[in-house]
Amino acid sequence: MDFKDKIRVIPDFPSEGIRFKDITTLLKDGEAYRAAIEELAKHYKGMEIDLVLGPEARGFVVGAPLALALGAGFVPVRKKGKLPGEIIEAKYDLEYGKDILTMHKDAIQPGQKVLIADDLLATGGTISATLDLVRQLGGEPVGAAFWIELMYLNGREKLGDVEVYSLVKYD
Ligand code: 5GP
Repeated sequence: MDFKDKIRVIPDFPSEGIRFKDITTLLKDGEAYRAAIEELAKHYKGMEIDLVLGPEARGFVVGAPLALALGAGFVPVRKKGKLPGEIIEAKYDLEYGKDILTMHKDAIQPGQKVLIADDLLATGGTISATLDLVRQLGGEPVGAAFWIELMYLNGREKLGDVEVYSLVKYD
């Protein structure tokens, strides 16, 4: 399936000059949604992944079904103030200013194999902060999975030796 056909590009959102990749058109197509999850799952079959981590909010719609497909657990990574238990934090840069991602302190046991999933890799800031959380708890990051990768922003360079796998690339 050509997943690029299922993704709608919206010009000038959220600000002028940005061509936003809208995945809601893929999500509402049941066959495409299932295929896009299965295509990612295929890549990680046999790797004995313990946990899939997804940053809010679009990381949930990729990460949770991917976890089910791999027989792994799912861990939500959230903005500060959303998780009810004891948390750890990682700061990351936004275009203007900074933000904080959090995860429950007991979300990962040392040595567990962790896959990070999100809809789109842009600058890599979100996933770098998520990787920081994984490492704080002694998890073993085995990869980062995306539906979309914006190649011109070189996000994968920020992720060091963590393998990046994406289905659709924009040059
Ligand atoms: P990064 O931290 O890599 O710069 O940005 C990636 C994050 O921003 C992802 O969590 C993603 O959901 C969101 N994002 C940035 N640009 C887009 C876009 O064009 N489309 C979608 N769907 N998400 C985007």
